[in-house]
Amino acid sequence: MPTLTRAEAAERASLVDVETYHVDLDVTADGDTFRSRAVVRFRARPGAATFLEFEPVEASSISLNGAPVDPSAIRDGRLHLDGLAGSNELVVDALMRYSIDGEGLHRYIDPADGNVYLYQHLFINNGGRVLPCFDQPDLKASWQVSVTAPAEWTVATNGVLVSRDGGRWEFAPTKRISTYLASLIAGKYHVRTDEHDGIPLALYARAALAEHLDAEAAEIFEITKQCLDRFHEMFEIRYPFGHYQQAFAPEFNFGAMEYPGLVVFRDEMIPRSVVTESEREHRANVIAHEMAHQWFGDLVTMAWWDDLWLNESFAEYLGTRVASEATRYSGTWTTFAMHRKAWGLRADQRPSTHPVAPDEVTDTDAALLNFDGISYAKGAAVLKQLVAWLGDEAFLAGLNAHFAAHAYGNATLADLLGSLSKASGRDLSGWADVWLRRAQVNTLRAEVRRDGANYAEVAVVQTAPAGFSTLRPHRVGIGLFDQVAGGAVVRRRLIEVELEASGRTVIAELAGEPAADLLLLNDGDLTYAKIRLDEESAAAVPLLLPLLDDSLARAVIWAAVLDAVVDGERPVAELVTLVLAALPTETEVVIIEDVLRATRGLVDRYATGQTRPAALELLAQAADRLLRVSPAGGSNQLAAARGLIGATTEAALLRGWLNGENVPEGLVVDADLRWLIQYRLAVLGAADAAAIDAELAADRSASGEQWAARCRAALPDAAAKEAAWTAVVADGSLSNRLAELTAAGFWQPEQLDVLSGYAERYFAEMPEMVRIRKGMSAEKTAMAAYPDVAVSERTRELAAALLARADLNPILRRVVQDADDDMRRALAARG
Ligand SMILES: [Zn+2]
Repeated sequence: MPTLTRAEAAERASLVDVETYHVDLDVTADGDTFRSRAVVRFRARPGAATFLEFEPVEASSISLNGAPVDPSAIRDGRLHLDGLAGSNELVVDALMRYSIDGEGLHRYIDPADGNVYLYQHLFINNGGRVLPCFDQPDLKASWQVSVTAPAEWTVATNGVLVSRDGGRWEFAPTKRISTYLASLIAGKYHVRTDEHDGIPLALYARAALAEHLDAEAAEIFEITKQCLDRFHEMFEIRYPFGHYQQAFAPEFNFGAMEYPGLVVFRDEMIPRSVVTESEREHRANVIAHEMAHQWFGDLVTMAWWDDLWLNESFAEYLGTRVASEATRYSGTWTTFAMHRKAWGLRADQRPSTHPVAPDEVTDTDAALLNFDGISYAKGAAVLKQLVAWLGDEAFLAGLNAHFAAHAYGNATLADLLGSLSKASGRDLSGWADVWLRRAQVNTLRAEVRRDGANYAEVAVVQTAPAGFSTLRPHRVGIGLFDQVAGGAVVRRRLIEVELEASGRTVIAELAGEPAADLLLLNDGDLTYAKIRLDEESAAAVPLLLPLLDDSLARAVIWAAVLDAVVDGERPVAELVTLVLAALPTETEVVIIEDVLRATRGLVDRYATGQTRPAALELLAQAADRLLRVSPAGGSNQLAAARGLIGATTEAALLRGWLNGENVPEGLVVDADLRWLIQYRLAVLGAADAAAIDAELAADRSASGEQWAARCRAALPDAAAKEAAWTAVVADGSLSNRLAELTAAGFWQPEQLDVLSGYAERYFAEMPEMVRIRKGMSAEKTAMAAYPDVAVSERTRELAAALLARADLNPILRRVVQDADDDMRRALAARG
């Protein structure tokens, strides 16, 4: 399928106005194809020529306004039409192919019971893999769907069910929606229903997950209702799409997708094993995020992908906010500060960085690459800063005016800024220019001068990275923390100040103030910047961090510490020492998980071959200490156990846990924890293929199949590596998720000897991989297969040679550019 350019989309929108799609699918046949009959009604400029995205295996009939169209009109994934009338009816009957890459109509066979499951994902422009359509966000239309399916299946779509007769399903037409939002699931889905405030609710998951969906349904419904109520308090337009259904589908590429009336999540969100509170919080956040999209994205849609941020930044901001305000997960801003912002900061400092709102995204390939930490996390952080600056009342008034003006239509950045400016009475053009139109991040550094026990001067120094000159206005919190009797570290004072877009701002109100034990810049995490503490405060961190009572403040400090290590300003050995001192007393599970995960990644890439084992041992000790003090059966215990499993080299300890020996009280070694242990044993060379086969024989499930693929790829022997590599780069019959997880298990810092030669193969063979895998599946697999632990100048030279190729696939180019930049940092930090 050719990528759709912005210019083509603009021209087509000037010629065509789509009224309705009626798509009638027959999914009863076995094999890898299905029938699609479509009727597309649209108005056009008389005499004009245009095209629809369309990629059939075979079109048995095509007619336009009653006259047959020759199948040769289908070329390169497009159906070309000319001689259009003012009012047109296109009727097509075609054989289409199912996908296994998560785009189009994805078909999955559950290894647990052999049941077949389908879900439709047309984003970003895969509509032509299901029916002929004008696949761009500003050509909205009403969708009507009919499906013929095996009699025992369940089918759901955006629209409400009108009738069902055996395997024949008829759904009501939707309101006007964009093509990328048309949704469908079909299969032996297990269903739960409920109702709230006049809105019918439903949940769907595979039959094999039925008992787990039943166990989770109460919580998911509760969060759904709480979030609906909160959005209805904030927004003047009620939820606009009738019913609110949420499906959990296998091998879904995204965390979830915001289809109006039928949101689809990856079905890992229906856990079969014990999970931590942060994983539950994440699901609540995603529920709120997708619900925010019903207004921001579905009701009012960006005109073109330039304004992707209008969708994702708003959904990330509102999802985090609404989950924290309306559900029991009040700590989502701590997670945001700790985890999501680091994602944005990293993306923003790479060579591929781009503004939150780019001037122009040339085509759909480029648009796909902007689904990154900038469009989500940086955009949301910038919106949080905007709310701090405008005030909440003006912000919400502006949003409501925006919805009212553009409901069921499309809008641009200029439209939104107009609504917000009008509501707040403030001119936002300067703000938008520095925060939305310019890439990169500023560093804010605290500087203090003392006069005895008091501050003589506190200043904040703002800098821009090399090659960039932009400085920004910031509204930031500054917290003063002291250690009090009994040892706790508590906030004595919090002030909010406005920093001009200048190099140095003196904080006048802190002159003469008694100096604090720790001065925290960006306390409350209001702004988006790299944060560096003053020297005295930084030196006090190892002593005071474990005693600090405010989890958001701890998250801001941890994020700053980790960022300094990523930049090579602080050695990874110092980080590991801090983790050993501070982690065992940490109580916030998201901080535990993130510190363990981020430190582990830095140890693997920043520590040299000689120092890595010692660093890993200290990390294992930190996890072990935390495990010993964590309450039995709680989330912290599980997070500590996972951290220990990932870092330890003691195979006997791990085997013991598998056999039920010396398992900490309260820790459940269930199916997924067993697999995590098997995975570590495989990496260490302490489990073989037979052990993996035996584990799989005891767990014939979707998760078991995925874990087994990852474990096999992690075995440190030449035959296993060859088999895994060949599967990733050349086996087109491997699904998106199995390809990604096989790649994820492949590279291990413990195994550089047996992996010799595979860095060369990555750069030689990935161009072929991105020919057999497409879109997001190609991107994720290329990322996971990157030789990121083969840290060497040689790997960088190979990357440079590939990047020099003019014919390089743009998805692979972005992946290699970014991963190579990470390696540049790692090499610099190693010194
Ligand atoms: Zn989203």
